[in-house]
Amino acid sequence: DAKDAGWNLDNSYARLPNSFYSSQNPTPVRSPKLVILNSSLAEMLGFNAESLKDAHAVDVFAGNTIPEGALPLAQAYAGHQFGHFNMLGDGRAILLGEQITPKGDRVDIQLKGSGRTPYSRGGDGRAALGPMLREYIISEAMHTLGIPTTRSLAVVTTGEAVIREDDLPGAILTRVASSHIRVGTFQYVATWGSEEDIKALADYTIKRHYPEIEGKDSQYLLLLREVIKRQAALIAKWQLVGFIHGVMNTDNMAISGETIDYGPCAFMDTYDPETVFSSIDRQGRYAYGNQPYIGGWNLARFAEALLPLLHDEQEKAVEIAQDAISEFSGHFRQHWLTGMRAKLGLLNEEEQDDALIQELLTVMQKNKADFTNTFRSLTLGKHKELDFYGTDEFSSWYKEWQERLDRQQKSKEVSLELMRKNNPAVIPRNHKVEEALEAAVHDDYSVMERLLKVLSNPYVDSSEQVEYCTLPDPSGRPYRTFCGT
Ligand code: AMP
Ligand code: MG
Ligand code: MG
Repeated sequence: DAKDAGWNLDNSYARLPNSFYSSQNPTPVRSPKLVILNSSLAEMLGFNAESLKDAHAVDVFAGNTIPEGALPLAQAYAGHQFGHFNMLGDGRAILLGEQITPKGDRVDIQLKGSGRTPYSRGGDGRAALGPMLREYIISEAMHTLGIPTTRSLAVVTTGEAVIREDDLPGAILTRVASSHIRVGTFQYVATWGSEEDIKALADYTIKRHYPEIEGKDSQYLLLLREVIKRQAALIAKWQLVGFIHGVMNTDNMAISGETIDYGPCAFMDTYDPETVFSSIDRQGRYAYGNQPYIGGWNLARFAEALLPLLHDEQEKAVEIAQDAISEFSGHFRQHWLTGMRAKLGLLNEEEQDDALIQELLTVMQKNKADFTNTFRSLTLGKHKELDFYGTDEFSSWYKEWQERLDRQQKSKEVSLELMRKNNPAVIPRNHKVEEALEAAVHDDYSVMERLLKVLSNPYVDSSEQVEYCTLPDPSGRPYRTFCGT
């Protein structure tokens, strides 16, 4: 039964003011079938992975059975979508509750694709199998790359079709997050709630994610500053692996500092700051090179929502908020530089490092170099295999880099070790992800399982990886992603 599976749910979000959510059960589905379970994550959360495979547990993942201790709800939130402010809320996701892990951590267990809610507006509340598996693959890859992220516990198919352009097999993803509190959650409360509501949400957030600042002087300013720091660190990590989120709306920015919402995201192959994959991002608002800027913009929206808690006088509050926001770019820069130094094996800091890094990126962009493979080739001493090896610009950069490495006290081996840990051999390349999804929707999960296995160890070279490092056929159509399917 449910006890054996290891459910240990609390519902602290349900104890917040009523206006923050709507109680809502998942809508049952016809014939659920488990297609993937994340056993190692399950065990970490205190579940018995084997019993999560039995019919009762599968019914829970499908929303057909409510586990003991759950108080299912849809969370209310708002958000700026491509710059336009809208009321949103969980339109196809339901929070079952918070699993308390054996270590005492509290994580949200959410079913995504589990039916309509009061916030659904137009949509059907459902999700298709391909996009749910895509979220599973990419979120788990982000985790093994060392990037804070929501995670994926299971995917079940529903036995029902979802109506899109074509009929697609329906599925539900069980998402695990340290919470689902978003910038947009604060915007919702700041727009339609009272000052007490904002305080309640901020206090809750501090308790849950930033307990070290609880009760300190100016704790709400500290909250703002800590969120800014975590987002700066997070977005720097995205940049360092070529991850493009694709839909950095304020409702898709988690206050915990985790990556959330794997809709139209994708990893960049060829290095170009203007890279966009999302079919709806026609202006390039969420292009690779724009992500840090948008991060700052979103955090300014967060600061606006906090204004009443920052100072009694609006003018002073704005000043305080602006000072805090102005720190974002410095934090980002610092994290990015540290990460880039690591990618190049630089163990100390020199003033010209910035220029050295920029110069390499310029050469890469000009030569349409693959982002991941270029850094991995440098790591493995295989620079002679790079397409642009032999060009004057690369030779001159390479010489400078070698001289820079020679100026370091520590041995070359220490540098190489650092590089190996910071330059992944494999990323979830779009064409490999598509291949896995294509097989899975035709009921062959072996391609995805192989992909997940290779992605589970991204920094170690293995012969299995070779096919995952090759680039897509350049004659193919440009890769495009879609949200909300
Ligand atoms: P997203 O673009 O994924 O951040 O989603 C924006 C909003 O649209 C969220 O409130 C979702 O819950 C809602 N939404 C997306 N797809 C659906 C759907 N199929 N049915 C109902 N609501 C949806
Ligand atoms: Mg979203
Ligand atoms: Mg989405």
